[in-house]
Amino acid sequence: MDKDFLLNGSKTFCMFPWVHLNIVPNGNVYPCCVGVSSDPLGKITDDVKFDDIINNENFKELRNNMLADIPSNACTSCYDLEKFGNSFRKYANESFGHLIDEALDNTDSDGTLHDFKMRYCDVRFKNICNFKCRTCGPDYSSSWALEENRHMGTKHKIYDLSTNTNILEEFLNHIPNVELVYFAGGEPLITDEFSEKVKSYEAEYEVRLEEIKNREKEALLTNYDKIKHIERLVNDYYTNIPWYHNQMWETKAKMDEIIEEFKKL
Ligand code: SF4
Repeated sequence: MDKDFLLNGSKTFCMFPWVHLNIVPNGNVYPCCVGVSSDPLGKITDDVKFDDIINNENFKELRNNMLADIPSNACTSCYDLEKFGNSFRKYANESFGHLIDEALDNTDSDGTLHDFKMRYCDVRFKNICNFKCRTCGPDYSSSWALEENRHMGTKHKIYDLSTNTNILEEFLNHIPNVELVYFAGGEPLITDEFSEKVKSYEAEYEVRLEEIKNREKEALLTNYDKIKHIERLVNDYYTNIPWYHNQMWETKAKMDEIIEEFKKL
């Protein structure tokens, strides 16, 4: 297998299905957070093991497709983005390409992955969130769920995977291997179970943090004092563009002020 081609030349190969599971509050499992939402590759159940999911038929097919440079529906978002430049797939290969020997050595010809180690953690236990960001929805924000239920008659739920002791145990078993943790909504900083478990573990994490605006940075660093390095990927909406875009992102845009600003343009 030409590793350089896989990491740098392939149009489909991505390290994530070897090092990562994206588990979201409703129990759906994706190869990553930009996997096609209508195409989950698995589902968390009471007795499921991460090894079972990473080796279900969907994940095996995805890995084999990637090794054969065959596109998969679950990864359409990345193919679309690459028409214009960068993608999460390229980020995955840059960030975890150092593990390709281990990944290939542990992969059978049918796509089965032995000795799965979760290196990138994005497990979201609850959809509890005090924001209704315009890019979000009821599966990731209880505020959105309640709003849609109230106005649209839907029956979205407050999801809570942390009541599943099996998944918590599975998650903790993988913590020693984790190189990168992604905190995202449901708002992790008001999800106590997740916070407590992460805080209690002696590990050095790299953290991608997109929700830093939800608490003061100092409070975050105090609470998560075992985190050694924070890669701040704070969205440009929060930092580099005019304030009215920021307000548009947030729950309660001050429309009168926004309109006044637009008048000045
Ligand atoms: S190719 Fe893109 S969508 Fe597919 S697993 Fe990798 S990052 Fe996720």
